[in-house]
Amino acid sequence: MNRRDYCRCTRVRNYTYDQAAKKLGCARRWLEDNISRLPRQKYGQNPVFCECELALIRDMFSILPEKVAEFIAAVTAELEPCAAEPAGEQEQPERVLTLAQISPAPPRRSTRTA
Ligand SMILES: [Zn+2]
Repeated sequence: MNRRDYCRCTRVRNYTYDQAAKKLGCARRWLEDNISRLPRQKYGQNPVFCECELALIRDMFSILPEKVAEFIAAVTAELEPCAAEPAGEQEQPERVLTLAQISPAPPRRSTRTA
């Protein structure tokens, strides 16, 4: 997955550590401590985050208790009565991941050989 797969920004609007921490409601220190696991851009020493990266971070660290996931699934099923109809030749219904099933991609290996 590369940047184009998740970034929907049409103009550049990046947030520094302090701005991102304020927007996420977390401590700057937490961002710094976890930076290797977070989606980001890096120009020089300090990383910056676009809106999409902040949204990914929010999703990565959202906690969805099983009961809540079940509730959401039940409500979603009520809202989409067509989903209960047979899909014809399609044996496997389209699978939509719940938030709890989504996990971050493994870190990319550095291509540098330093
Ligand atoms: Zn973006």
